[in-house]
Amino acid sequence: MEFTDLGLVEPLLRAIRDERYVDPTPIQQQAIAPVLAGQDLLGCAQTGTGKTAAFALPILQRLMGQSKTTNRRAIRCLVMAPTRELAAQIAESFAAYGRYTGLRHTVIFGGVNQNPQCRALSAGVDILVATPGRLLDLLGQRKLSLGSVEVLVLDEADRMLDMGFLPDIRRVLAQVPPRRQTLLFSATVPTDIRKLASELLSNPVQVSVAPEAPAAETVAQSVYLVEKSHKQDLLQQLLRDRQVSRAIVFTRTKHGADRVAQKLGRAGIEAQAIHGNKSQNARVRAMEGFRSGRTRVLVASDIAARGIDVAEISHVFNFDMPNEAETYVHRIGRTGRAGATGMAISFCGSDERPYLRDIEKLTGQRLPVVKADGTLVAEPTEAQRDQRRSQQHQAQQRQHQQRIAPRDPSPGPAQDESTVSQGPTRRRRRRRGRNTGQRSLSAGAA
Ligand code: AMP
Repeated sequence: MEFTDLGLVEPLLRAIRDERYVDPTPIQQQAIAPVLAGQDLLGCAQTGTGKTAAFALPILQRLMGQSKTTNRRAIRCLVMAPTRELAAQIAESFAAYGRYTGLRHTVIFGGVNQNPQCRALSAGVDILVATPGRLLDLLGQRKLSLGSVEVLVLDEADRMLDMGFLPDIRRVLAQVPPRRQTLLFSATVPTDIRKLASELLSNPVQVSVAPEAPAAETVAQSVYLVEKSHKQDLLQQLLRDRQVSRAIVFTRTKHGADRVAQKLGRAGIEAQAIHGNKSQNARVRAMEGFRSGRTRVLVASDIAARGIDVAEISHVFNFDMPNEAETYVHRIGRTGRAGATGMAISFCGSDERPYLRDIEKLTGQRLPVVKADGTLVAEPTEAQRDQRRSQQHQAQQRQHQQRIAPRDPSPGPAQDESTVSQGPTRRRRRRRGRNTGQRSLSAGAA
């Protein structure tokens, strides 16, 4: 399916070409037509799936097509998002996709001076992107009105509820006309989101893009703890292995992608870089070379790599650790497809350790670390550590109880103490418990 199949008008298609998007992502394929048709929508998708364009494009088209309800510009679309970062990102998307539409938008969020935001509002906007707190603030000060809203979007609704925004959302909803189109996006759909959706949406279309299975079983993952200055050498060394038949190397920035590809070329390893600054032709050429097998190594920034669907990628290298754990899952999902096995190898500098921890938290597994001699060391996950800590804590409490009630004839739940891996053996611990008990008893008697 192509963007031209989705019923979008030329000013939007032109903006999409400017963005160099080739094909719509799955959420865009599913959501654009029903939103254009005016239906409510429950979208289960996380950031990184292209969901912003999935709602922004059809909304822009709907607002373009309708005559304004009043002479003055009034807010006809309200998008609520949990954080200022997300709100700013959504506003940027509206700016990009709406650049040929003549529609106006602005973004408001807390933590900054409200005056520039108020000035933008009083100049009149068609689309407002807002975090709940600042929105309520300015509503309270009568700096804006939501009485003309025709389309309401709640983005990352699950996160908004997690952050305790439900009462704020309800207060905002009370000021939005009940006759409107409502779109609710959420990465997860727990019961409270279902409940909210059933309250807010009428007869919604449901679209869902399954997140790629975290850390697919078919992908063998490992991490090198390596400093930045050694990453290029390590990459070259690993790429010389003939087992690496087709590889993507991910960098965090466009310049990084260029640099790595150039150095690989100088080291005699054929590689192409692909990123958003490349012309459409250069990107198509790079992809064709990679698909056909002429180019063994593709060096990509995350955005350029979206939608890359090439079979039989044997290796994914994370030259830089992604700063969002979800991105890691997306990246490694490029290999190990359709039952094939793949390898995902990450390079983690000491400054990137927090990213590694986030990834391990999300995937629930500890990435085996490759030691200098090439062997792997697997360590327990954070969850396993927590469990172990809680077992140790319970064991300590039992010991403490034994101390204050040493003559209790019941043996207590000492059996599972054997699962505690650290500390003294059971017999030693019992003996010590008895001694301590005696000491405290005599102390008590003194
Ligand atoms: P989102 O999930 O909306 O945060 O989008 C994630 C990223 O994907 C953004 O950087 C978009 O610019 C990009 N993107 C959205 N749609 C497409 C597409 N059809 N093709 C390529 N990139 C896209």
